[in-house]
This record gives sequence, structure tokens and C-alpha cells, in this order.
Amino acid sequence: HVDETSLTHGRVLSVHGRQSKVQTEDGKIYACAIRQVLKSLATDQRGVVVAGDRVWFRIEARQGDDGQSKRPSDEVITADGMIERVEPRHGIISRTSRGKQHVIAANVDALLIIASAAEPGIKPTLIDRMLLTAAQHEIEPVVVINKIDLVDPLQLQALIGVYGSLGFRVLPTSATTGQNIEYLRAFLHQRQTALAGQSGVGKSSLLNSIEPDLALAVSTVSVENQKGRHTTTASKLIPLASGGAVFDTPGIRQFQLWDIEATEVAGLMPDLRPYVSGCRYPDCLHLHEDGCMVKDAVADARIDARRYDAYCHLLEDDLLPE
Ligand code: GDP
Ligand code: ZN
Repeated sequence: HVDETSLTHGRVLSVHGRQSKVQTEDGKIYACAIRQVLKSLATDQRGVVVAGDRVWFRIEARQGDDGQSKRPSDEVITADGMIERVEPRHGIISRTSRGKQHVIAANVDALLIIASAAEPGIKPTLIDRMLLTAAQHEIEPVVVINKIDLVDPLQLQALIGVYGSLGFRVLPTSATTGQNIEYLRAFLHQRQTALAGQSGVGKSSLLNSIEPDLALAVSTVSVENQKGRHTTTASKLIPLASGGAVFDTPGIRQFQLWDIEATEVAGLMPDLRPYVSGCRYPDCLHLHEDGCMVKDAVADARIDARRYDAYCHLLEDDLLPE
């Protein structure tokens, strides 16, 4: 029996064991313990709190402890607290290990899928995988093509056209010349955004041009991870001066399809989706089945053959046993 009126609302920045950091709307940070039996409207959450969660907590008197002085000086903890309640989530990012799904970020409003026009060049299959994850969790995707300064923009028109015609937003950027950085900064405002992309595409450089302090915070975490000091995939939510925040989710920087079933994929692709519900086989993979409506649509070019090839590769490379 929690006295609901005395609870304070905040967003979870990070979690370590049963300890978390929670930020309130006025920017204050509280060191909160997490109650073992959390009140939650969703059944899948069971006392687990992750970065991005919206929570209600009770402020407690700060315990006198000398350990405080070890905290980085830039992070002032206002008080201690106890998380009593978690709001239902939207837009989760999860990974599956040993058959168990682990949510690593909650309330992800947007996913920036970052590719680079050159060095390294664009890998459409990577983009397609990340678009699937966004579709699966109803997260708004933006395809960012960075290093646009290294190529003739005409070279990218076909690719931008394909994704654009499927209804995806594609944004050419350059951290070097500043192209569309202002747009990105505005996009991140008031959203909780995750970034994904191969290493070297310019994620840190983009963050650095948007907000210098932020890139520092993010890269520190991933360096620690490379050294294996942190073996977990704990993610952090890093507040922006603009009021938005970005997730640092080490686990999704090297992107894989963590938790998608092969039979789900076609329904998550906007151009295949219309034919999936008409397919007469409920568990159809739309690969070899006779009388499959998706295959019929490919045969008479209602579905672009290159997109269907991409679908087949995705299934065969990532999701189907050898
Ligand atoms: P990350 O691994 O995704 O974080 O990529 P980095 O931000 O570390 O960038 C990798 C390399 O690409 C660095 O040498 C950057 O200077 C370079 N780079 C990043 N963005 C751009 C860009 O827009 N144009 C050019 N020409 N180089 C870039
Ligand atoms: Zn089918």
C-alpha cells in the first residue's frame, strides 16, 4: 500500500543491480533503489527496470555515506529514493540470450539507423535488419546516410528513392560539413532516441557535432566495453541539453536481429505486408511454398524483385538454420 500522492515522476537513466539513477523533469538526479515487487501495469516487466523507463519513486532522506565523494563531480545526486511503480512501456529494444529475452532500453521513441556513404560504404542488408527491428517494436526509424561529403549525392538517389518510396525517412548528413546537423538536433529534441550502426560510420562524430559533451559520455562507455570491463549489456540514457535524450546501448551498436521470428519478417516489410495476410499458409515463409501470394506478387512485379531477394537473404543469412 503505497501512498501514491507522495510519489515523484522521473525517467531512468541507468541501472546497476537494484540501484538506479532517475532524473526528474526539472533535471535533478536521484539515486533510487528498486522495490523487489514493483507495481506495474504490464505483466512482462516483473520488477525489472531499464534505462528509459518512466517510474514513480518516493524520495527518502539522503543516507550519510562517504562513498558519495567517489562519484564523478559532474553528477550531483539530489537525494535517495525508492522506485515504487513503473509505467507501461512502448518501443523496447531487447536481445535474446540463452533463449531469454532481455529488454535493454525502454520507451525508445526513435531509432537512428546510421550508415555511411563511403568508408565504409552502405550495406542495405544492415539497414533492412534495423528497419525490421524498428517496425517490430513500433519505433520511428530514420535512415541517416552520413559522410555525404565523400560522394556525389547523385550516386545515392536510387537508394534514397527506394527507402523513400517505402515510406521511410532518409536523411543525408555530414559531420564534416555540418549538413543536416541542425535537422538532427531538432529531431532529437523531446525524444528518447537510440542510435545504431556499424563502427566507423560516424556515430560519435555526429553526436559530437550535435552536442560535444554527449559524444564524450557515449564513447567512454563503449571503450570500457571493448576492454571487457563490463560484460553486461546495460544501457544508459544520456540527457541532452535540448530536453531529449539518447540511449547508449552497447548491445545494438553491432546490430543483429535479436528477437524476430522468421515467420514475422515479411509482415514487417511495408511492400510485402499487403500480400502476407492473403497468403493461404499461416506459417508461410514465402520462400518455396507453392501458391504463396507473396511469391505470386513477385512473379508479376507487384513486389520489386530486388526487395524480395533482400528478404530471402535476410531469412537465409540470419534466421533460418543452415
Ligand atoms: P563511429 O564508430 O560510428 O562512432 O564513427 P566515428 O565518429 O568514430 O567516425 C569514424 C571516422 O569517420 C572518423 O575518422 C571520423 O572523422 C570520420 N567521419 C565521421 N563523420 C564523417 C563525415 O561526415 N564525413 C567524413 N568525411 N568523415 C567522417
Ligand atoms: Zn506465403
